Amino acid sequence: MPGRLARILTASLRLLPTSATAMGTPNSPPVYSLTRLKRWSWTDHELPPVERIKAIHVYDFDNTLFASPLPNRDIWHGSAIGKLSSPDALAGGGWWHCSAFLAATGRGAVVEEKHAWQGWWNEQMVKLVRMSADQKEALSVMLTGRAEPEFARLIRRMTQSKGLDFDMFCLKPGVGPLGQNFNSTIDFKVTLLKDIMCTYKNADEIRVYEDRQRQCVYGRSQCCSSTYHPSALTSAC
Ligand SMILES: [Mg+2]
Repeated sequence: MPGRLARILTASLRLLPTSATAMGTPNSPPVYSLTRLKRWSWTDHELPPVERIKAIHVYDFDNTLFASPLPNRDIWHGSAIGKLSSPDALAGGGWWHCSAFLAATGRGAVVEEKHAWQGWWNEQMVKLVRMSADQKEALSVMLTGRAEPEFARLIRRMTQSKGLDFDMFCLKPGVGPLGQNFNSTIDFKVTLLKDIMCTYKNADEIRVYEDRQRQCVYGRSQCCSSTYHPSALTSAC
């Protein structure tokens, strides 16, 4: 296992029941439904019934579930890493935007797939994903800011090779199901998390596994500020 796995942060939110109209305007309250929610997910899985779900478990991919390669700071100058990380500096996109970089992990996708990318997973997270899948009252969600058109098939191959299954498999779409444009990864994640929470309104806990502390903190503040009562928040970061 490469020794670059970032610290894992777990945010556990204790939520109060809320009205599904809390996020809408008085004239056009949003209608939350499984049909609407399913449009976020890349797979064909039927979503579990609303009344069954009591907990929501959300797993980030890069450096939470999988030890995604990072540019080697012993080789690359800081400014070069900045260019590599930019979506616009290289033809086809940068390190996080072109699937060729992720596909080149280890000995390359063709070889690694046969061995389920052995050694590249955070096995503690893998165990939790499997427990979530076995927990019938939990909704399991794979949530990444990687672009859906570019990465969905590759990341699906990777998780399938490891035998990981999710109720929802969500990557950042070019445009959201309701025509939303996203300014950032956290903007996308918060929008989707709110949709999930308002749809599965009987869930009294959401657990988010995320390696980036700032995303954890911002996401928690956004998801709790308007829809859920802040005093109902407990955290386990
Ligand atoms: Mg990450």
